[in-house]
Amino acid sequence: MHLNDHSLRQLDDAYIQSLDPEALRGLSLRLLADLKEARDRLNQGPENSSRPPSSRVPWERASGGRPWGEDIKDSKPTVESADAKPADAKPADAKPVDAKPVDAKPKRKPGKQPGAPGIGRTQVFHAHEEQPHYPEVCAGCGRRLESALTVAYTGFQAVDLHWADPANPGLTLWVIDHRFYEVACACGHRTRAEAGHGEVDPLLAGVELSEWRLVGPGLAALLVALALRFRLSRARIQEFLDEWLGLKLSIGTIHQTIHEAGAAVAPAEEELVQAVLASDLLHADETAWPEHGQPLWLWVFLSATVTLYYVAGRGRELVENVLDGFTGWLMSDGWIAYRHYPRRLRCWAHLIRKALGLAQSCDREARRFGQQVLKILETLMAAIYAAREGPSTGHLPTQHAPALAELRAACGQHQNSDHRKTHALAVELLNDWEAIFQVLQHPDWPLTNNAAERALRHWVILRKLSSGTRTPVGSRGVALLASVIDTCRQRGHAPWRYLERTIADRRAGLPLPPLPQLGE
Ligand SMILES: [Zn+2]
Repeated sequence: MHLNDHSLRQLDDAYIQSLDPEALRGLSLRLLADLKEARDRLNQGPENSSRPPSSRVPWERASGGRPWGEDIKDSKPTVESADAKPADAKPADAKPVDAKPVDAKPKRKPGKQPGAPGIGRTQVFHAHEEQPHYPEVCAGCGRRLESALTVAYTGFQAVDLHWADPANPGLTLWVIDHRFYEVACACGHRTRAEAGHGEVDPLLAGVELSEWRLVGPGLAALLVALALRFRLSRARIQEFLDEWLGLKLSIGTIHQTIHEAGAAVAPAEEELVQAVLASDLLHADETAWPEHGQPLWLWVFLSATVTLYYVAGRGRELVENVLDGFTGWLMSDGWIAYRHYPRRLRCWAHLIRKALGLAQSCDREARRFGQQVLKILETLMAAIYAAREGPSTGHLPTQHAPALAELRAACGQHQNSDHRKTHALAVELLNDWEAIFQVLQHPDWPLTNNAAERALRHWVILRKLSSGTRTPVGSRGVALLASVIDTCRQRGHAPWRYLERTIADRRAGLPLPPLPQLGE
């Protein structure tokens, strides 16, 4: 929208008559654009609201998937959401922002006002700096504003993080008084500067990206680090900020800030998916991730330069859609969701564990089969290691054809065994034969899926501490932030400065800054 309510209310017959033709044309165009946008919003229902394809959940395209839009129960009103500055908010007075909470005016619209004191802003600080915000052009006639007739009409106090430099280390909270100014133009129109706001992924409905925030972008990045990297509960984060930094934030503000950070990085998904698709070798794995009692899964797709997470069901739709267009090799366990993919590698660690279990069984048949499988896999592993070390010794599948034939025969013999685990291992080897022994063709490829399992381990501990997430919005936020955090680390960058900049830019309505690259 070009014109806010404050500007719109000033427009009348007399003002329109006073404009020269050029200014009038400019104003007409802005009004026309606003009218169309307003009309579209008016006509938009859930059935025709547009969604950019990149913001669709990947497993939704194929099968309809699970309905993410509904059940957003935890967008309960919190301090931070109330902090958001409504477009038609009545301006508060122009008093210094640190003097008094700005909603103390008697005449006001119902509901929370901009900058209204919640639990999160009962503290008032001495500001380290004042940041004035001026409008650049007149919202009426469109001319550049250079008038000295300015008055601060509203403002708020933000707490941010002052990053240490190597010469002067330390963690400092930095308090900024943001002042928003109204400037009078020669044409008579008075234009107000406003806090920016960003566009939010429709799958994160209820989350708002806005510059009108108590928690500045650097402090927001710290909250994400404490929650996801250091795995502190919201209550522990609150305790840390209070007892170490003297800052009192409500649980609601902390919660909302982390959700907002998830919305800020959401457009990175596109770039991460592209990096996944471009990789030669991809590891995939999944682990349980409950969402409000619903048994979902945290999936990871990991290559040398990217880590991408999703919280989703355990079906193959997710794999199909994430890997739509992928032509590299996929390393995974034997889970059915991966089986349709043609260029597949299998993790040997699982097979060796199962063979070892059989080798130690009390059942004679199981013991013999287990020992046989184990012996052959160990021989092949030794050959693979040797091939990695030294000069090529020839084609491993040909060299070990007798051992492979022996194993295949043994599997055939035991696939109808009455012993359940013997039967299961024989069938698994036969069913997945090509994927399992593909590595003999390319001995430099990994034998295990350790890379993906290691990536998930961090989040498994978080799950145990937090019991997963409560809503689709929470799940998506965690997956997006986890992807960005782990990808940055993988590329040799601490994620936090990137996250700070991303939050700042996206709150201002700017596009996502590009992700840091390896070796930058
Ligand atoms: Zn003007």
